Amino acid sequence: MNSFKVAVVGSGPAGMYAIQHLLEQTRFDVEIDLLERLPTPWGLVRAGVAPDHPEKKLIADRLFQFFLKRSNVRFFGNVEIGSDISHDELTACYDAVIYAVGASDDKPMAIPGEQLPGSWSARQFVAWYNGHPDARHLQFDFSSPRAVIVGTGNVALDVARMLTLPVGQLARTDIAEHALQALQASRVKEVILLGRRGCQQAAFHNPELEELLYLDGVDIQIEADDLSAPERTGADWDTRRKLATLIRLQARRVATPVKRIVFKFHHSPVSVSGDTQVTGVQVRKSDGSGSLGTIQCGLLLRAIGYRGRALAGLPFDVQTGVVSNIAGRVMDSSGPRTGVYVTGWIKRGPRGVIGSNKQCAAETVGCLLEDARAGKLSRPNADALLQGLARRRQVVSFRGWQHIDRAERQAGSAQRRPRIKQTDIGELLASAGSPKP
Ligand SMILES: Cc1cc2nc3c(=O)[nH]c(=O)nc-3n(C[C@H](O)[C@H](O)[C@H](O)COP(=O)(O)OP(=O)(O)OC[C@H]3O[C@@H](n4cnc5c(N)ncnc54)[C@H](O)[C@@H]3O)c2cc1C
Repeated sequence: MNSFKVAVVGSGPAGMYAIQHLLEQTRFDVEIDLLERLPTPWGLVRAGVAPDHPEKKLIADRLFQFFLKRSNVRFFGNVEIGSDISHDELTACYDAVIYAVGASDDKPMAIPGEQLPGSWSARQFVAWYNGHPDARHLQFDFSSPRAVIVGTGNVALDVARMLTLPVGQLARTDIAEHALQALQASRVKEVILLGRRGCQQAAFHNPELEELLYLDGVDIQIEADDLSAPERTGADWDTRRKLATLIRLQARRVATPVKRIVFKFHHSPVSVSGDTQVTGVQVRKSDGSGSLGTIQCGLLLRAIGYRGRALAGLPFDVQTGVVSNIAGRVMDSSGPRTGVYVTGWIKRGPRGVIGSNKQCAAETVGCLLEDARAGKLSRPNADALLQGLARRRQVVSFRGWQHIDRAERQAGSAQRRPRIKQTDIGELLASAGSPKP
């Protein structure tokens, strides 16, 4: 067998790096269909990376889009596996299927009151400000002066920045229009980040923490028992850098502070208070010492981690929230499921930056190529399936995505913004135009 057809499900970094590895190998002729549930590609590069980090999104223009221009790669946007096409239909039509569907759920805090209006996951908030069509209707309440974020990872820092960045700066980004308007009217003045453990264990990375040094008009306060001079700790190099940055943040003076970010380490949420709406969060020291305290707030965002969602027809590890796999080969209890693979966050959990998915995809594609060399892949035909699908619904081709991209950039240039995102599926499909792939 010298050629095969692969379906890659999900067009985030993991799916795109999988395509790169497939294109770079020379042993087989390969045809690739990329299936994406949204009309737009790039996963969290478009819908996760913060609007004030445009440089992190350049990878889509500088690398990923070139894979979709290759004659042996086809993009099918607006196609969801699990509803528009089943897993069984897919495997019946392709030699191999690689799932790169990311992590679409979030970890719960599992405390009373968590479901009250005003309590959200950071995932929902991020999707909302980035214009993800699923989140465009969410209504966040910014009328109270204080917001609490549970967690101190990079996502928590993104969210804290979005709540405190001067509106003039936000208005130069590709933030969703509805979010820009809502944040312009925000009355949030203080954002408290709750860290269960100490500052030496915080999950944020130093470059993301350092950005807070340059936040205009935002005072930063650090409440931590373990904030000591880096050289006096036996901590590793990364931790010492973060400690040094925290000390600089604490020493930094803002002439006329307009907003404030407070890091409150060693504190855990115990319950969320409020009858019909969040009015506060009860916290206590994580070691159980001291008494309960209540932080009044009108907005609570939990940034304690994304979580993979089970896909019908695939074995799922409920404990870890990933599709069961070994090195990217999907594993049933009886052994590997031939021709079915995973990569990215649905394979290894929601960890790592965009670039981490390259190595991850290399391992998965390596397994696929090994199976192909061993003659383990079957030889079906995908075209009937996709032609049938195109008759049932509008499928967005790469050209369709280019139409959307152009329309968004044109709308943005009038306001000196990188783009104004279209967030409504109907609007996106109308911009995409022709349904033919
Ligand atoms: C808030 C946030 C900010 C981040 N910021 C940065 C940053 O600044 N820099 C950095 O390097 N990394 C950043 N990351 C990490 C980076 O985004 C991830 O490492 C990366 O996106 C994971 O890639 P993935 O392809 O596994 O998942 P995703 O990027 O989530 O892609 C999954 C894709 O699959 C599609 N999909 C899902 N289900 C289906 C289905 N059933 N059928 C078809 N398609 C489906 C989704 O629509 C999506 O397009 C950030 C992450 C988050 C959450």
